[in-house]
Amino acid sequence: MVDIAAAVVSINYLRDFTKWVRGLQKDADVLTRTNAAEEKVGEVYDKLQELRGENLDLLEQNRVLAERLRAAEDWKAKRDQYKLVKTAGGATVLHHGGDERNVAHHACPACEPKQLLVPLQDRGVANGVHECPACGAPYSVDAVQNRWG
Ligand SMILES: [Zn+2]
Repeated sequence: MVDIAAAVVSINYLRDFTKWVRGLQKDADVLTRTNAAEEKVGEVYDKLQELRGENLDLLEQNRVLAERLRAAEDWKAKRDQYKLVKTAGGATVLHHGGDERNVAHHACPACEPKQLLVPLQDRGVANGVHECPACGAPYSVDAVQNRWG
């Protein structure tokens, strides 16, 4: 990667140098050429400043995109732990099979687009309805005839 700050330091040196030469020489041709060189150095300096600004913008965009990518990967890893299933009660919900940190549970498919994986809670009612504590959506998870024997 080009070190723009180091290039700016070099250009500043050249600017000072051309001013110094102009101060030494009184010959018209040398002065004309020195002025032209100083003008070119000024143009390069301005371009470098522009590039430095663009570089800072690109670095910021890169940082933002890296954060978004990391967030998307984190979400995908969480979502990959669930699969869409049809329950005994007929509801279509997300299912987590359980692991060392989670008991097996169902999660709310309505909250998934908001990147929330909310475990459904058993209402404890005879018809087997579970509810999402985040959005309140009811799901017929358990089969009614098998629930209370
Ligand atoms: Zn929900």
